Amino acid sequence: MIDAPRPTPRAPRTRVELITIGDELLLGFTIDTNAAHLARQLASIGMHIVQRTTVGDEADQIARAVKDALDRTGAVITTGGLGPTSDDITMQSIGALFGRSMRLDEAHLAWMQERWTKRFNRPLPDANRKQAMLPDGAAKLENRHGSAPGVWIEDDRGRWVAMLPGVPREMRGMLGDTLLPLLAARATGGTVVRSLTLRTTNIAESLLADKVDSMEGGPLGVSLAYLPSIAGVDLRLTVKDLASADADAALSAAAARLRARLAEWIYGEQDTDLAAVILDLCRTRGLTVGVAESCTGGLLGARLTAISGSSDVVMGGVTAYHNDIKRDLLGVSEATLRAHGAVSEEVAREMAAGARRAVRSSIGLAITGVAGPGGGTEEKPVGTVWIAADIDGDVRTRLLRLWGDRDEIRQRSAQWTLELLRQGLGSGV
Ligand code: AMP
Ligand code: MG
Repeated sequence: MIDAPRPTPRAPRTRVELITIGDELLLGFTIDTNAAHLARQLASIGMHIVQRTTVGDEADQIARAVKDALDRTGAVITTGGLGPTSDDITMQSIGALFGRSMRLDEAHLAWMQERWTKRFNRPLPDANRKQAMLPDGAAKLENRHGSAPGVWIEDDRGRWVAMLPGVPREMRGMLGDTLLPLLAARATGGTVVRSLTLRTTNIAESLLADKVDSMEGGPLGVSLAYLPSIAGVDLRLTVKDLASADADAALSAAAARLRARLAEWIYGEQDTDLAAVILDLCRTRGLTVGVAESCTGGLLGARLTAISGSSDVVMGGVTAYHNDIKRDLLGVSEATLRAHGAVSEEVAREMAAGARRAVRSSIGLAITGVAGPGGGTEEKPVGTVWIAADIDGDVRTRLLRLWGDRDEIRQRSAQWTLELLRQGLGSGV
């Protein structure tokens, strides 16, 4: 809610710069989650961040960063430095840049005083009075989530800065309650930025790019980002500056072409988890799952049971880290262990069969490998992992040669095992 001069309506302006303020961001003690949240929220109303800057709690750094951004883009959002302490100087620095003196906002002071008395049963500390000092001519952005007001300040050329608090909860609240509606009304002329993500696994980024580039029918007409992670490579399709219905149409047309070309590797959209895809496949076929995990120590079971409703598919599992447990609880034979070693195709097979027996499931999944950093040999270096999927006695195995640290190797092992099962259930190839 604005209670001072209203920003004047102007031509659509969808580009904005973001400046996040705080020594803790520069030092790496606080991760800049505000930037990510702002980018996603702005996209929903058709705006996008064209440049991001982080500066420390220094008046001249703040002023210089804001001035540069105003010169380039003319539209700036800041977060941080609106608190009551002496290191919070965003408001003064930017006020001075706009050539405004600071004035006491009586209404805000009264509101803070009342809030403190009612909520905390204490008088307002002197330090907080500072939060009622606003640059002359600035508009207040209501904060229902904390004591700092946000501020909108605009010059006679229509260049503006919106200052939001640093505390993520307050920033999100103020953005959603006040700033987004304001920007949506004034800036975007009804266009949106919209994305659709197609999730792939079992194919390298470069191979995907080759397939996409050699696709018939010309350019996709949307921008395409390749986002590799432990889960696989996500393809993020984005359109900008289109009306909502046109954006949806462009995205679905491009997605349909990619789906036709990459059917084998695409397992879901947006943030779909492969584990959830597996559970759905099993559920519709009346199949149940048991897991036998050595180097992942329960990670695969955790992935599956993290999905709500997994109990009608997942029976349970055995964490068989020590060879004695592979033998005693999963029935892996001593002879197999001796002949091939714990990290071997044969042991993975026997573990998967053992999981089915142990938890009476139709499917058994098994993982045995060298997660490192110690324990590698020339024959079986760190990252050597055997996985198996036993579907009613029909067994698929795969040797993985993974890279990365211990955590990455374990995560990738779990993901690949889910993918092996997906292929076994015939939804891959
Ligand atoms: P401030 O408004 O600068 O006093 O910030 C208050 C607190 O919010 C800081 O101590 C940080 O923990 C947090 N914070 C500030 N900026 C950010 C940011 N960009 N992303 C996430 N947290 C932040
Ligand atoms: Mg700060």
